[in-house]
Formats: sequence, C-alpha cells, structure tokens
Amino acid sequence: MAKLSPAATVLKGISLVRGIAFGPIVRLDTQQLKGARAIESPSAEKAALERAIAQAIAELASLIERCEDEQARSILEFQVAFLEDETLTQPIFESIQRGQPAETAWQQGINREIADYQASEDPYFRDRADDLKDIRDRVLCKLFGCELPKPPLEGIVVCKQMLPAQFISHSWGEGGLVVQHASPTSHLTLLARARGVPVVAGIEVDAIGEAASAVLDGYEGLLILDPDPSTQAYYEEKRGHDRREAEQAKPLLLKPAVTRDGEPVRVMVNLSHQTELHWIDRRSIDGVGLVRTELLFGALGRVPSEEEQAKAYGEILCWSREKPVTIRLFDVGGDKSLGHASAESSTSFLGVRGVRLLLRHPTVLRTQLRALARVRHMGKLRVMVPMVTLPEEMRQCRKYWEEAISEVKVDGEDTEMPPLGMMVEVPLAALSIEAFDADFFSIGSNDLLQYLAAASRDEPELNHLLVPSPAALNVIARVVSAANSLNKPVSLCGDLGSEPSYVPLLLDCGLREFSVAPDAIGRVKQSIASYGRKK
Ligand code: PEP
Ligand code: MG
Repeated sequence: MAKLSPAATVLKGISLVRGIAFGPIVRLDTQQLKGARAIESPSAEKAALERAIAQAIAELASLIERCEDEQARSILEFQVAFLEDETLTQPIFESIQRGQPAETAWQQGINREIADYQASEDPYFRDRADDLKDIRDRVLCKLFGCELPKPPLEGIVVCKQMLPAQFISHSWGEGGLVVQHASPTSHLTLLARARGVPVVAGIEVDAIGEAASAVLDGYEGLLILDPDPSTQAYYEEKRGHDRREAEQAKPLLLKPAVTRDGEPVRVMVNLSHQTELHWIDRRSIDGVGLVRTELLFGALGRVPSEEEQAKAYGEILCWSREKPVTIRLFDVGGDKSLGHASAESSTSFLGVRGVRLLLRHPTVLRTQLRALARVRHMGKLRVMVPMVTLPEEMRQCRKYWEEAISEVKVDGEDTEMPPLGMMVEVPLAALSIEAFDADFFSIGSNDLLQYLAAASRDEPELNHLLVPSPAALNVIARVVSAANSLNKPVSLCGDLGSEPSYVPLLLDCGLREFSVAPDAIGRVKQSIASYGRKK
C-alpha cells in the first residue's frame, strides 16, 4: 500500500461532496467581467441591453431544454423568471434614459439586488445571491460579446465562488472543485452531489499560491498541493479501492442485507431531495429511514404550504409503495434554514433548533402535521421528531399529531394511526429513552457525536473528535438495548452508518437497522455481508 507523504503541503477545508479527484489546478477567474464597447444614445443603449437580456434568456432556455436534472432546471427557470421581471429591469432602463451606459446601469441595478440578498439573515437568501451574480455576468457577456469562463474537463477547478448555472453548463468528467465560499445546502453543493463531483470548501484561493497540480480528498476535506509520487500513488490506490468497492457492491445492491451468519439487517435510505427518487433503485432498500424535509423544501426559501407538502410527501410514499417512509418534521436551525421559519432559529447547533423551534411555531408544526395526515393512507408513513431533549416535547408533539389526524379525514378510514418516533441525538435523551412516548427511535449520530464530544460538526479542526470512540459506542449500545427491552424499533440514520468501516462497530452495538446516504447502500451491504459474530 502506498503511503501519504508527510512532506506534502496539505490545506484543510470542509468536505461538501465525498470522492477523490486529481490533476492540474485550473484557476477560474471570478473577477467581474470587463469589456469595452462604444457608448451610444440612450435609446440605442436601451436596445442593446434588451438584446443582451433576450440572448441570455435564450441561452438559459436552451440549457433548460438539455437539462435532465430537475433541480438544475428549477434553478435555471428561476433565473429566466428573474430576467423577465419588469420590476427589476424597469429602474435599470430608467437609469439608461437618464444617460447611463447600458453596462453600468445593469451592473448597478443587479448589484443592488445582490447586496440585498447578501444582507439577508437567512442563509437561503444569501445562497440565492449566487443566482443573481450568474444572471449579471451572463447578460454582461452578451453586451460585451464574450463567453463566460468554462473550466476544462479534467483537473481540480479552484475558484472563490462558482455560480450554479456555470456548474450546470459544464460536463465535469473526473474533475473536482475547490471553492472558497459554499455551504452544505447551497445549490452548488446539491448539484455537485447529484453528479458525484467531489467538492471541498473553505480553502483560501490565495493559499494555493503557484501550485500546479493537486489531489482533492473530498472525504477528509483536504487539498494536497503538488503531490509527490508517493502521495499521488496513495490517492490513486485509494480511488481505485473506492471504485472496486463500488463495483463489488453492485451484485449485493439489490439483495437483502444479511451478515455472514445469515442474520438479516435492514438497510434504508436517507432522502434530502425529490430528484434522488429518480436514481435510487427502490429494490435496493428496505424503506426510507429519514426524509430531511427542511432540505426537501430548502430551495423555496419559505415555509411550504400544506398543499405543497402533501404533494411532496405523497410522491415519496407512492414511490416507496409498501416500504416504510420516515418523514422527519422540519429540523431548522444550526446550518439549515427554511425562510421565515428560521427567523428566530439559532445558527448555533446548541440553540433553538429542531423541535425546540417547532413548538415555538405551532402554525408551522400544525401545517406540516396536517399535510402528513392527508397522505397517511398512501403508504406506510412514520413521522419523526428531531432534536428531542425532554419527554414533554414528545408529549406535546403527540398531542398536535393526534389533533391533525382527527381533523383531516382521508379515504379508507380504517387507515392505522402512523407511528410517531423520535431522533435520539441529544445525550440527555440518549441516556433515558425509556422516559419518552415514542413509537420508534432513530439515532442521529451526527448530532449525538458533536454533543458528546463538545465539538461542533462544522468545525473542520475538530473532525477527529467526531468518531465512534468507545464512549460514543457505549451510548449507542445503551440506546439499542433500551429500545430492544421496550420492544420498539431502533435504527441509526446519522452518517456513521454510511461509512462501511464503522458498520461492524455499530453491528457490535446491536444495531440491525440503518438508514444511509443513497450512494452508500451497496458499500454498507457489503460491510454487513462480511460481518460475523466474534467467537
Ligand atoms: C444526525 O444528526 O445524525 C441526523 C441524521 O440529522 P442531521 O444530520 O440532519 O442533523
Ligand atoms: Mg441531527
């Protein structure tokens, strides 16, 4: 096995999309576009800008036509709608009438909008500022008669920021991306994850200096500059190993998971977006163990209506058919937002988030529970409460849930009351699950580990503390054994379960039900297949 050379220059960032890429460094110039054109009369300037906007719309429309990814399409459609919005363009045309050149009026007008979005308290709107920059540059290019910069097919693209449409219009091959600014819920991240392009964020572009090539380690969030032959060999081997693992896992993908001793283990999937339904093979899973509803509607920037929610939940239940679907109530706060509902949420992982926030917004909670009650006859629904700390929080949620069920009538009145379960991710709850009125439990190891270790999950410096230490495994084993004594189902839906090397440790804790990331199903099944009881 090759070795990672200690002499290599390693920059540490945050892993946004897992995977490995290597090759030449490609620096994308994200400077504002500049160009020279002769300034004409106000009416000719206005006509030039109108032409540029029409050309940009036509370009976006052709991208939409070629786009197979629903999420990407909705981003592009948002951009077209923005360009067609006269409330945006009217003041810009008025500035031109007053004598401003087309490009100045355009840039000033859009930059004002961008500044408003960037000043928003809500991370959703801050992320959407990227879409506006994209529109600004696309129209400017049309005015100047130039092209938006396109990264080449191979290599590690490095930039301060990449706009969603720029990402979409590029075919990524085997490349990877290093961006200074991006968040786990930004459009860019979701698009890259869907396409399997490894991404690391939080690395200062200037720190890369004159390096010519790099390895991007999207598992650990590392960028290794000008790797020496032994580092290069180490990562080639690692990437080869990942690919072999993925290949070997293929035959197991559609089979039920069993240990070497023939003990069955349930493997479910975590969903964050409807588009995932298009590429996950339903036959490969035992159900949906977690739907992160706050991400499902993250792109809306507001709390979805009962109608919108019922439609989305119904789609997942229909897709899953007889297999259970666990829909988690909005887990807003920490690094996740949902427009207005987040206004009072805390961006601290120790703050007002999850059920703490929901109980402060009964209207939002009632709307979500009514939407769930409306679709309860469409499949095997389970409802799950996030960030539970006290038994009283579960009692209140159950009261709201029973109210929603009694208010909302559905076809087939004999539909059973869907179970109401809880995430076990706060240590206080993990150490006393017997006290909670929950029909099932799901261990949220991402949060549980950060709270046990007092180490924030978004702090790259502390990643080494967020591992299944013997103490953390003790807590997990305690939860499993308490749930078994109560005769209630227990699973684990945090990312520990998606890491094949941790799966045996979790099986040792007694877990026999996992809910994992869509791209981990095969590898986790393989790890289960090679697990045998210690003699
Ligand atoms: C967890 O905390 O492990 C979990 C599954 O929830 P999230 O990652 O959405 O906080
Ligand atoms: Mg959590």
